[in-house]
Amino acid sequence: MKNKYTYLVIAFLAIMTMNSCKKDSFNPTPENVPIILEPVVPPQDLPDSNLVMGNPSSATSDVNNFNNFLLKEGYYTVSYDRDRAIPNWVSWHLTASDLGTTPRQDDFRSNNNLPDGWYHVENFSYNGGGFDRGHMCPSADRTSTVAANSSTFLMTNIIPQAPVNNQVTWATLEDYARSLVGQGNELYTICGSYGVGGSGNAGPFDNINNGQVTVPSMLWKVIVVLPNGGDDLSRVSNSTRVISVIMPNTNTVNSNWRTLRTTVDAIEAATGYDVLSKVDPAIQAVIEARVDNL
Ligand code: MN
Ligand code: MN
Repeated sequence: MKNKYTYLVIAFLAIMTMNSCKKDSFNPTPENVPIILEPVVPPQDLPDSNLVMGNPSSATSDVNNFNNFLLKEGYYTVSYDRDRAIPNWVSWHLTASDLGTTPRQDDFRSNNNLPDGWYHVENFSYNGGGFDRGHMCPSADRTSTVAANSSTFLMTNIIPQAPVNNQVTWATLEDYARSLVGQGNELYTICGSYGVGGSGNAGPFDNINNGQVTVPSMLWKVIVVLPNGGDDLSRVSNSTRVISVIMPNTNTVNSNWRTLRTTVDAIEAATGYDVLSKVDPAIQAVIEARVDNL
């Protein structure tokens, strides 16, 4: 495996060198088209493991599908909305092997895998808006390697999130989810946002960055909890624990995520998505109608 990755890195460097030579030697015309390369860092997991429970909005990687554009980052998968400049939802698998000792990289940056000509949210685009750069797939869920952690800082995994929501209610649920992994579980999490208008440290806003980035009004999250094992989809049953929340994107949000629990059905009604679409419909009917109470 090490050899394979070495060859990938060599190929990447060779392509970079060829491109820069081409630009310098043979193509004196200035061009603004960025070079788009496939990510060279392989996922730490099977290619589609982030979408085992389904693709809630049938997102595709067709550039014409600009409001529901599929971005496979390897460490998590995104449906991105070009015009809102935020993800619709992000989905990922979390197991004990994802949790290591890699420190938070904090390298917020634009995503060069977005199609040419699309507005790119930059690391500084949220400055002065009164909102945090709130992770969907959390930095702390991806600490096995530098590449894994760094991937969570792509701005396509980020929404303008009210600081109290991000740092208290949302963060506490993230911590609780990781504690379940410490107790022998693996998780499938799908989360996102909808609506327009939140309220952060600078008051209410419908958008930031001169209208380029929509501030969503609500955040939602669905966590499927499975004891560690194989063939995960087939192990989802009527008794599988599913934690679902909807919370307002405000600083006055209740600090206790348990008070904000709801059903998957409520999230589906609010978003129009089919969450857990790969799960047997008869099982979906049961687990999506239940409010977690543990
Ligand atoms: Mn956060
Ligand atoms: Mn469903």
